[in-house]
Amino acid sequence: MKRKRGDTTHDVNVFEHEGKILENARELEKNTSLTLEELQGEYKRLTKEYQKLLRQTEKITRIGDSNQRKLLAAYDKIEVQNIQLEKARKEADQANNAKSEFLAKMSHEIRTPMNTILGMTELALFTHLDDEQLDYLKTVKEAGQNLLDIINDILDFSKIEARQLTLEHIDFNLVDTIHSTVKILGITAAQKGLDLFYDIGSDVPPVIKGDLTRLKQIIINLVGNAIKFTDHGEIELKVTLANKELPGDGQPGKIPLLFSVRDTGIGISVDKQKTIFESFSQADSSTTRQYGGTGLGLAICKQLCQLMGGDIRVESKEGKGSIFYFTAVFDPGDPGAMAIQQEKEDLTRLQGKPLNILLAEDSLMNAKLAIIFLTKQDHNVVHVVNGKGVLTQLKKQVFDLILMDIEMPEMDGFEATCRIRADKSGAFDPGIPIFAMTAHTLPEYREEILRSGMNDFIPKPVDLYKLSRALSAIEPFANVENRDRNRDEQEQKARVDDETKEQEMLTIINREAALKRLDGDTELFQKFCRMFLEEIPEIIAKLETVLQRGDFQELRKHAHYLKGSAAMIGAEKAAGSAAQLEKSAGEKKDAREVQRLLQRVKKELARVEQSISPDAS
Ligand code: ADP
Repeated sequence: MKRKRGDTTHDVNVFEHEGKILENARELEKNTSLTLEELQGEYKRLTKEYQKLLRQTEKITRIGDSNQRKLLAAYDKIEVQNIQLEKARKEADQANNAKSEFLAKMSHEIRTPMNTILGMTELALFTHLDDEQLDYLKTVKEAGQNLLDIINDILDFSKIEARQLTLEHIDFNLVDTIHSTVKILGITAAQKGLDLFYDIGSDVPPVIKGDLTRLKQIIINLVGNAIKFTDHGEIELKVTLANKELPGDGQPGKIPLLFSVRDTGIGISVDKQKTIFESFSQADSSTTRQYGGTGLGLAICKQLCQLMGGDIRVESKEGKGSIFYFTAVFDPGDPGAMAIQQEKEDLTRLQGKPLNILLAEDSLMNAKLAIIFLTKQDHNVVHVVNGKGVLTQLKKQVFDLILMDIEMPEMDGFEATCRIRADKSGAFDPGIPIFAMTAHTLPEYREEILRSGMNDFIPKPVDLYKLSRALSAIEPFANVENRDRNRDEQEQKARVDDETKEQEMLTIINREAALKRLDGDTELFQKFCRMFLEEIPEIIAKLETVLQRGDFQELRKHAHYLKGSAAMIGAEKAAGSAAQLEKSAGEKKDAREVQRLLQRVKKELARVEQSISPDAS
């Protein structure tokens, strides 16, 4: 702001005025520090800035809007995806459940006939066989057992995959378990000329709590592999308390154990060591050819170890041997609980007396197998085909035990048990021991069985050894109430007399009744007829041989068996005559009387042969 100054008086006034203005302007300038133009300029600039800002804000709002729209769209999309995922998850869950259910069902379907195949083979191995037959049957048994092992492996594996495997929690004696497991495996090891021994650390508690069956399964798998892959030398199983780095450490009150299985076998290459714990993996394909197996064993072991809070690993050198290490965490056991169990077992070992068993089983093949096995062990067996039969028989006779199939027509095992337990008629003991026999092995099913009031559970295919162990725990009723047994025997005698009268009314083959029991399955009926036909000469030969020896006890058993087999196909007269033979052999009547009854049995059997030939052909 520069002004040119004049030098007149007027000018002086003007100058004065101007000076004032200038002063004012300076004052103003001081205050605003801007000229008016500058202010106007500033105003314009600010307006522009403001408009720019406004435009930007609008743009941002627009972007925001579009972002929000995008976000909303994305959100909708996610929601749709979530719904689809949830649907897929549900479908996968359903598929998974269907898969395990399918596997459980399939294993049931496969195990049931396998039960018959293995059981019958085992029984056939006890008969007179030439070397060739013996060899064939042994192969059948071995192949059957292998097949069953594979089925069990697949079932186990899928149960673990479907997270359906629950571990047991029971007190057990670790030392006894290791001892008996090694003893059984020792037989195979000895056959290969291998030394098998075990060593349990002195600080390992003898009684622990955990899943005994699964622990045994891992040991059997590892020691079994060690035997399989070793041709010379030794195998050692060692148990020690797991050291600090291993799982379970720091969990107060827990017992982490380290197991190792060392062999001097073919060893495993470093490469292969990485994959052997994966499912369906074998060290190399030639292994399958040479040693067989599914490659599932170690995968199952790994999963079981992890379920038990541990893990598994291997150290191995090709050609030098392998050491498998595995850990598992247990709880302290209660030696008191073990003592009670031990006492019970000792007691049963002393007993082992014949039992009166009521067998409820609708599968006649299974029933036949059980009857043969149980009568061979001196037990008396009465066979019925459903729960109704159980209730009827219980009122007629005193039994020590019921072996109850679960799935039966008309009245199943659950309902029959329920009725027995609730019975107040006094006609029988409502507390009678009931063992369920079923091929369903899922834990929930097992729990349902125990909840229903049954005392124990025998999985099918029935392991005959396990069955007889379970039976040996039953106290024969005779020891408790001899009087009742006598009364029962008298009743039975009267009933057999009645049967003699009824005999005249019986038919040679009551096809209708037999078919009814077989649910109208004529094919099965014919199959049974053919089987029975084939059996007749052998049965007669056996009856004659034992009669010649004067062995009434054996004769009674064979007659009993014949009675069951004949009844199975509705051969009522043959069954009736066999019942009389059984009775008189049991009473040790004179040989001539028994001879006479045997002739009658033969006559009836000949009639049966004649009348069923057209059916069976
Ligand atoms: P399989 O049922 O085939 O035996 P496993 O899962 O038990 O399946 O074992 C997988 C593979 O690991 C075997 O096929 C074998 O090649 C190898 N293997 C396991 N244990 C041993 C061992 N002790 N010595 C040598 N190789 C072994």
